[in-house]
Amino acid sequence: MSRSEWETAERVIKSAAEILQAGPICDDCLGRAFGKLGHGFSNGERGRALRTLLSMLGVEGKPGACWVCNGLFSQIEDWAERAVDEVEGIDFESYLFGVKLSARLRQMEAFFDERFHTGLSEPLKHAFNREVGKAFEAKSGHGTLDLTHPHLSFTIDLERDTVELRVLSLYIYGRYRKLTRGIPQTRWPCRKCRGKGCEACGFTGKQYPESVEELVSVPFLAAAGAEGAHLHGAGREDIDARMLGTGRPFILEVISPRRRHLDLPSLREAVNTTAAGKVEVSALRFVSRETVALVKETHAEKTYRARVSFERDVSQADLARALSSL
Ligand SMILES: [Zn+2]
Ligand SMILES: [Zn+2]
Repeated sequence: MSRSEWETAERVIKSAAEILQAGPICDDCLGRAFGKLGHGFSNGERGRALRTLLSMLGVEGKPGACWVCNGLFSQIEDWAERAVDEVEGIDFESYLFGVKLSARLRQMEAFFDERFHTGLSEPLKHAFNREVGKAFEAKSGHGTLDLTHPHLSFTIDLERDTVELRVLSLYIYGRYRKLTRGIPQTRWPCRKCRGKGCEACGFTGKQYPESVEELVSVPFLAAAGAEGAHLHGAGREDIDARMLGTGRPFILEVISPRRRHLDLPSLREAVNTTAAGKVEVSALRFVSRETVALVKETHAEKTYRARVSFERDVSQADLARALSSL
């Protein structure tokens, strides 16, 4: 061993001995203080190794519940179990865990880090999230950690003792044609009751009985077992205008889906059958959340066709003058 390696060893053993003698501490918290040392070890393994070495040197830890985490790391399996219960029947390929520490844990963690500053430690949050993730993956039998677009995001709130699950929306791009007038693009809450339901709207809460959004989303909601859907259109047309030609691009956001593997050709068929004569969709494909902003900002060229009726005969010159003033 080189001189600097001996110095590190001495420093680590000295710090570990101080931590061990300060009060009862679990292997995870002891190991966590040296989390940056070595690769491929869990903090529990680091802590056990240090405890063994120190015991051989005659330095023993104190019995009792860990004064830093108060036994949090011994509850990893329970938290993972609760997360698994939340996802029963839900399709996913990736996950991410986040934790809200209790005030007490935050204070203890800050005190621990300040009092025994090794410069090698891993924060409690970080270690907890990773360990729960590993246990969740083992129990559920599949899924990988995804830091950017996880299908499942769990928030464990230690103060409130809750596991909250958010399921990533599905985004489906397509184009719609609106074949009839009088249908708004998205659901319009009733002007009188603002969506609560009143006599004026027949207790539907809606200003118009149907919308492109609703006509398109119904088959998707059923297929995905979703909680809701939102249609993001590339601009919108008036309620009284039809939308013909190749149709308007849109993205349907399917909220909190239980199933992610949808058969788009048959859903297209389902929409076009159930909304026949009203709305027609085409060109369906899965896209990412980022595409929503792109589609909403699209400024497509449109052609309007209008039929005008006059009260009396109009001369060619009058028509030309009217057109030039438009
Ligand atoms: Zn601990
Ligand atoms: Zn109403």
